[in-house]
Amino acid sequence: MIDKRGFSVVDVGYLPVALGEELVLSDVVIVGAGVIGLMTARMLALSGCRVMVLERGEPGREASWAGGGIVSPLYPWRYPAAVTALSQQARQAYPVLVQELLDETGIDAELVACGMLMLDAEDARDALAWADVQKESVLRHDGNSLRQRMPWLSTHWHEGLLMPGIAHVRNPRLLQALQASLRRLKVDVIAQAEVVSASGTGSKLESLKTSDGREFSADHFVVCGGAWSRGLLGLLEMASPPSVRPVRGQMLLYRLPPGTLPCMVMADGRYVIQRRDGHVLCGSTLEETGFDKGITDAAKESLMASAARLLPALANEQPVAQWAGLRPGSPNGIPFIGRAEKDNLWVNAGHFRNGLVLAPASARLLANLLQGEKPSLDPLPYQCL
Ligand SMILES: Cc1cc2nc3c(=O)[nH]c(=O)nc-3n(C[C@H](O)[C@H](O)[C@H](O)COP(=O)(O)OP(=O)(O)OC[C@H]3O[C@@H](n4cnc5c(N)ncnc54)[C@H](O)[C@@H]3O)c2cc1C
Repeated sequence: MIDKRGFSVVDVGYLPVALGEELVLSDVVIVGAGVIGLMTARMLALSGCRVMVLERGEPGREASWAGGGIVSPLYPWRYPAAVTALSQQARQAYPVLVQELLDETGIDAELVACGMLMLDAEDARDALAWADVQKESVLRHDGNSLRQRMPWLSTHWHEGLLMPGIAHVRNPRLLQALQASLRRLKVDVIAQAEVVSASGTGSKLESLKTSDGREFSADHFVVCGGAWSRGLLGLLEMASPPSVRPVRGQMLLYRLPPGTLPCMVMADGRYVIQRRDGHVLCGSTLEETGFDKGITDAAKESLMASAARLLPALANEQPVAQWAGLRPGSPNGIPFIGRAEKDNLWVNAGHFRNGLVLAPASARLLANLLQGEKPSLDPLPYQCL
């Protein structure tokens, strides 16, 4: 079965990707229904493209579901400028996006701008310099100030940097809201549709085949396969697929009375976040274990120790859940966003630890490039060729 769509428009308000005797608006097939695929689909659909998303399993159940939902890189000053550029644009976009999704779908992704407190960071000076350049508000607390103002912390910390502008989002809800929004936009998100091969001629891809034998044809194809993107691009005959690898992250979930934790707290790369309903997440491990998504007792023990250190109220609590996800690791955490060898094959992948925060800006950049628009950011650092 060839599922080929296409329609003509007279005035689409932006430069179309193909020009013939009539303006033909291209169809786009996106592979992967994580936050990157779903947001890219929404961005393209909102600008008039007919979009379809193919997902190997259930939509939004891999890394994008497993993540903590912090709407900022951890220790943001330690990242290259290319990550900062995407994250600053995306952070600005989040409040509007979450409100739009709530209005459209009735699903609240619970964006909470409670701030992030980073304890005993050894490079506080770099943090302050970065915050100055980025116009990011930062409040520095010494040990006494922490003990006075934040009595819910343990007393051994020497210094805390509070960035009050950092928010978190309830990522499983965000994924539900995105899917509901796509249904309204008439974008099909097809579950259990694993892409296994492609056909095409020369510099153009014609169609993708899924494991159940269906074939999907489009003018453009976008790979948003998260940790699986490298293998996927190999299947699609990319000779040198970008270097994206799986990096496992494990998390614990606790339950405390709502309002126990006024802001996110982080030290030594571990963090705690409280959702509005009281659930507290503690994350996360960083493990190079290939595509193994299993959970381990060692990680549970280590995360429980971190949780108790970050928030003493958790010291006598037992976690109510533990899970793992595979981050799409990339060199320096810089995602690959752009064209991939063939004229109509695109990539939006490799967001490593920051896919949830970076998604709105990455989706926008990819949509700009695919539609031949002026890009919202300099695309050079994200090129995959
Ligand atoms: C423990 C943990 C904590 C994290 N915390 C944060 C955080 O606080 N903030 C933040 O910004 N980021 C965080 N991240 C990172 C973030 O979750 C990822 O960067 C992001 O989810 C990547 O999104 P994605 O859509 O690229 O990948 P995924 O969500 O993994 O989606 C990729 C999809 O592609 C599908 N797919 C793969 N192969 C095929 C195929 N052949 N055919 C069809 N479909 C296919 C997969 O099934 C999957 O659904 C965290 C990650 C983890 C694991």
